[in-house]
Amino acid sequence: MSWQDDAGRDLVKSFGDRMAMFVRGEGAYLWDADGNRYLDFLAGIAVNSLGHAHPAFVEAISAQAATLAHVSNYFATPPQLALAAQLKRIAGTGDAGRVYFGNSGAEANEAAFKLARLHGGSDRPRVLALTDAFHGRTMGTLALTGKPYMQEPFLPMVPGVEFIDSTIEALEAALDDRVAALFVEPIKGEAGVIELPTGYLVAARELTARHGALLIIDEIQTGAGRTGEWFAFQHAGITPDAITVAKGIGGGFPIGALITFDTAAELFYPGTHGSTFGGNALGTAVAGAVLAQIESEGLVRNAAERGAQLREIIARIDSPLVSGCRGQGLLVGVGLRQPVAKALVAAAQERGLIINAPNDTTIRLVPALNIGDVELDEFEALFAASLDAVLLTEGHPA
Ligand SMILES: *Cc1c(COP(=O)(O)O)cnc(C)c1O
Repeated sequence: MSWQDDAGRDLVKSFGDRMAMFVRGEGAYLWDADGNRYLDFLAGIAVNSLGHAHPAFVEAISAQAATLAHVSNYFATPPQLALAAQLKRIAGTGDAGRVYFGNSGAEANEAAFKLARLHGGSDRPRVLALTDAFHGRTMGTLALTGKPYMQEPFLPMVPGVEFIDSTIEALEAALDDRVAALFVEPIKGEAGVIELPTGYLVAARELTARHGALLIIDEIQTGAGRTGEWFAFQHAGITPDAITVAKGIGGGFPIGALITFDTAAELFYPGTHGSTFGGNALGTAVAGAVLAQIESEGLVRNAAERGAQLREIIARIDSPLVSGCRGQGLLVGVGLRQPVAKALVAAAQERGLIINAPNDTTIRLVPALNIGDVELDEFEALFAASLDAVLLTEGHPA
């Protein structure tokens, strides 16, 4: 029996066929069971900020596991309090900020959704979210996710959510004093690395403040330094009411958090929300170590600089299949002129490069934040060869 047979028999089918089985990782590289090496420009979907098996990650897990892993939220632990303070500092919340810990992006957004309801009460039943944005797969976060094909099999949704186009005009038309919160994904990763219009976040801040609605920014994919700032909203110079984080914060350890900036979080009172595992000593120690490493290695700046280099590489390859780049820092979407993204992912994997296709005409590149010239040079050669191979077999550029 092959691993494919085992996976086909034992795992739920919600993910489709697994593309490979990896047995080991180190830095920006992965190895499969046959000993083949792959350059990893997906990093577990923007999760492995430090790459695989980084010594700081390994040391934090080992040391904390040998000290204290979990005690429940009846008690505090030093790594939990340290991470809360660290997140408040890098997000710039000031003293009024508060942190709720969960174990995933969806849990962070569930907490944010509940915060929106507490804020809205019966006077503000409306919750706004953006068409095509992705906020998670649980019933609450699916209700916030503006993709009809994802919601359809699971109707009815949690009520109250309305989807609006990502334009300032749509925002102006939709906001009134009955809106509890506006959820914004600052660069829509799952939708194909789609940016918001210029000035959108500033307008969103202004309009939500005017109407007393919370501005909640989903930084789950964009956070932890990926876009060249700690969080994407910081490029816009605004202060949201809350952000949600997960993915890259833990560097591969599952953790998520809701971070509030003002008095909104005072709305949570004992008994209104919780999680058994959320904020456990092990997860918070690892995330604390990952963030400290991002800071000490200057990886927020590296994300900005390597992201710019990556764009130069895509431009230099100059394939007729490529229409251009979207995104910011090391969250890069490569637009394709033909719907060949899946073929390109397969051609790249055959050559030892892991990339991702969020849709038929986009390649998403989200490598570890600590990549350097060696990885970028290797990427250029492998990606160019993959594009050539696809052009030969499938491409008919217009
Ligand atoms: C991945 C993602 C989520 C969901 O996170 P999970 O950890 O998979 O629950 C939510 N929002 C955004 C923007 C994401 O990229």
